[in-house]
Amino acid sequence: METMYITHPTSFIHEMGSFHPDTPRRLDVISDQLLMSGLMPFITTGYPFKALKHDVLRVHTSDYFNSLLTNIPEQGKYYFIDNDTMMNHYTFNSALYAAGSGIFGVNAVFSNYVKNVFCSVRPPGHHACSNKAMGSCFFNNIAIAAKYAFEQYKISKLAIIDFDVHHGNGTEEIFFNDDRVLMCSFFQHPFYPYSKLLNYKKTNMCNIPVDAYSKPSKIREIVSEYWIPEIHKHKPEIILISAGFDAHREDDMGQLFLTESDYAWITDKIVDLSEQYSEGRIVSMLEGGYNFSSLSRSVVAHIRSLAKL
Ligand SMILES: [Zn+2]
Repeated sequence: METMYITHPTSFIHEMGSFHPDTPRRLDVISDQLLMSGLMPFITTGYPFKALKHDVLRVHTSDYFNSLLTNIPEQGKYYFIDNDTMMNHYTFNSALYAAGSGIFGVNAVFSNYVKNVFCSVRPPGHHACSNKAMGSCFFNNIAIAAKYAFEQYKISKLAIIDFDVHHGNGTEEIFFNDDRVLMCSFFQHPFYPYSKLLNYKKTNMCNIPVDAYSKPSKIREIVSEYWIPEIHKHKPEIILISAGFDAHREDDMGQLFLTESDYAWITDKIVDLSEQYSEGRIVSMLEGGYNFSSLSRSVVAHIRSLAKL
């Protein structure tokens, strides 16, 4: 078996109120759809550990880490950070396990236990900056996995692909001008988090804005004409994916029109590249995706492509 599916019970108890779109039910529908898909006998499952404080501090400031830790609310209460981002009593622990699952995934692929990994965990991470939580994100899971891979496995280059509809501003901030990292994404613009646009040709950030209502063919063009040539140049030793599924046509969070077949196509391209440069090593971590049906179908399509089933 070449693909591992990771989740953890703490991902289901972090919640930010009944009206918040990032609800634990997102993970329930993913696991239900995966069970129904018939893929489970062909993939393995992993039970992650918690990220340690020093794993988190490779990415985040200790002041920020301590500010979350000291503001953990009592049971039944929330600590309010912004309109999208609140901690309940369990959030801090859930965030440590979400970050730990990426580290667990990195170990699983570098030990050759599996080729690739999908982490179905919450809270997500790509908006979290080095010194602040925002956009439902607390710790930048993919950045913590990346820094761990550099330190533990002494690699010199990796790539981060982000196909969430929103700009991965936290990941961009953390790795801006770190030439060991190539980040490739598309994102709806103008849209949350309203980041300043960079000239991708002058940085290690191949993050391409797209207009609302752009067709899937535009996204495929960005993958083929921008991402893939940059990845060929960069030759990453592992590819990490911030896998958000809110650019789906049925997801009202964004105004793009991707379908499961587009997510499968993008994943197939990433798998091909990983086989050329990274011995197949991919760690993919859930970010957004809020329509239960399209999210669960898209994750299954993504995993089917990762597992080549
Ligand atoms: Zn998103």
